[in-house]
Amino acid sequence: MKIQKMVKSEVSKIPFITPDEMEQITQHILRDYGFDFVNKSEPEAIPIDELIEFHFELDILWDCIDHFDSAGLVMAAIMPGEKKIILNDTCRDLFEKKMGTMNFTMAHELGHWVLHVNDKDNLQTAMIFDDRETFFCRSWSKKPPEEYQADMFAGSLLMPKPMIQRVIAILKSQGNIQMRQLYELASLFKVSISALTVRLKQLDLLYIDASGTIYNSKSECDGQISLDM
Ligand SMILES: [Zn+2]
Repeated sequence: MKIQKMVKSEVSKIPFITPDEMEQITQHILRDYGFDFVNKSEPEAIPIDELIEFHFELDILWDCIDHFDSAGLVMAAIMPGEKKIILNDTCRDLFEKKMGTMNFTMAHELGHWVLHVNDKDNLQTAMIFDDRETFFCRSWSKKPPEEYQADMFAGSLLMPKPMIQRVIAILKSQGNIQMRQLYELASLFKVSISALTVRLKQLDLLYIDASGTIYNSKSECDGQISLDM
C-alpha cells in the first residue's frame, strides 16, 4: 500500500452540512438503492456492505493498518483513488464481536466517499482529501470536522429518520421506554447501543442522562431536574 502523506494535516474546505441536508443525502442514497425506509412495518438493518460494494462499487478489504500512526487506534481507512475501503485486520476480533461497530465503521468510510471525495469520475486528478491517497480513521479523542460529518452520515444512513421516528412513537405510545427495548432496537438496526442513543439524542426523540435514565426529550430531562431542585 502506497502512503503518500500521513494524517497530520487538516483537510481543507470541508463544506458545512446541516442535519437536514444530511438526512436528505442519506435518504436519497437509500431511495436510489431501493431500500424502503418509509413503509416497513418494523425497523430493518441497512445492508451496508452490499450498499458499498454493489451500489457504490467500492471494495471492502481487510489489512493490518494500525502500525502507521500512534495518535489513535486506526479502525479503517479509505483509498479513494483505488475505490477501496480497508478495515483494520487488527480490529477483526472487535468487529466480529460487535457487528454494530463494524457496520458503523463501514458506513463512516462510505460517508467520506460520498461527502469528501470531490470528483468521483476522475479520481486520478481529483482533489481528494488534500491529495492524500489514503485517509485513516481512528478513534479520536478530539475529532476533526470531516470525522464528525462521516459519523453523522453513518448514523443517519443506518438509522433513517422516518424509520426511527415511527418506531419510537409506537414505543412511546405503549408507555415509558425501557433500556431493554433500546437494546432490541439497536439489534434490529444492527448498530451499537451507543450509536443508537447518539442518534436518538440528535433527533431529540429520547434523551438518556449520564445515569442511564431515559427521558422523552432533553427538555423533559431539564424540567425534571428543575422540579427536583
Ligand atoms: Zn473517518
